[in-house]
Amino acid sequence: MNSRHNARRHLLSISDLETADIERICDLTESFAEVSRRRIPRVPALRGRTVVWLFYEDSTRTRLSFEAAAKQLSADTVNFSVGSSSVNKGESLRDTVEAIEAMGIDAIVVRHSCAGVPHRVADWIDASVINAGDGCHEHPTQALLDLYTARNRLGDLSGASVAIVGDIAHSRVARSDVLAFTAMGAEVTLVAPRPLLPLSLEGWPVKVSHNLDEVLGEIDICYLLRMQLERAASLDVPSLREFRAEYGLDSARANRLRDGALIMHPGPMNRGVEIDGDVVERPNTVITEQVANGVAVRMAVLFLLLGSGLDTSENESMAA
Ligand code: ASP
Repeated sequence: MNSRHNARRHLLSISDLETADIERICDLTESFAEVSRRRIPRVPALRGRTVVWLFYEDSTRTRLSFEAAAKQLSADTVNFSVGSSSVNKGESLRDTVEAIEAMGIDAIVVRHSCAGVPHRVADWIDASVINAGDGCHEHPTQALLDLYTARNRLGDLSGASVAIVGDIAHSRVARSDVLAFTAMGAEVTLVAPRPLLPLSLEGWPVKVSHNLDEVLGEIDICYLLRMQLERAASLDVPSLREFRAEYGLDSARANRLRDGALIMHPGPMNRGVEIDGDVVERPNTVITEQVANGVAVRMAVLFLLLGSGLDTSENESMAA
């Protein structure tokens, strides 16, 4: 790792964070959630700093919530639209990010269909890089907002039992969530048919089940994933109908969850596949809370990576 690629200046993977960093982000999120609820939700914390979005893949929640987060912190934002840029003339990723950096930016939020792209970008430029999803690899801010949401509802997560259900193989959310939930002491079970699991789970601190019905009554969190058909075209994945029959959370299955067990999903949902419409409306389904908390979590991350508002070594540990 060279000096430019200092993981503490960037957020590329949940594994860049110590448990104390995660705690710190959750605490700061609490403060920023209070800002978000104000009538005029704006603080001057990042005035004069500029954040650019570089999204080579579609996004609704992540992009909008990063944008809301930056605006609430008074940062300037620049939107890079891949579709109308010189990327269409064949400009390389490296030339593109170096050109963007030359305009004087402080952070770049990157989403790309290839795993590892944010890490490469971090090698090339001095600005902070935040991974907003790289292929099937990681989506760290999603995992942080998932943790924050779960802790808000359940309290301390040590010893909590989390089932992550569905298309694990193609899910960057699953990888980041496994790291994040286990860092907080939770026990994670991956629940999926074999074709939807990664080829190797060596080193993953998880249990595996192929039977959702067997685990439903024992979990505190049922985290459902979208079937990522855009990444699975060539694989032998089950049909959506087969998948729904074995792994879809319908009302009958949701009724067998423990009282208070949470139902989570990163969105976008395939209603009628991994989750039924009426399950979405249950009081213990926290999908809308996840989205709402995403803004405050991303404020905390931007603030820690870019801010000058923290005057302690805790700031240095994230932003040095
Ligand atoms: N929105 C999440 C992601 O970008 C989950 C998904 O697309 O299924 O990875």
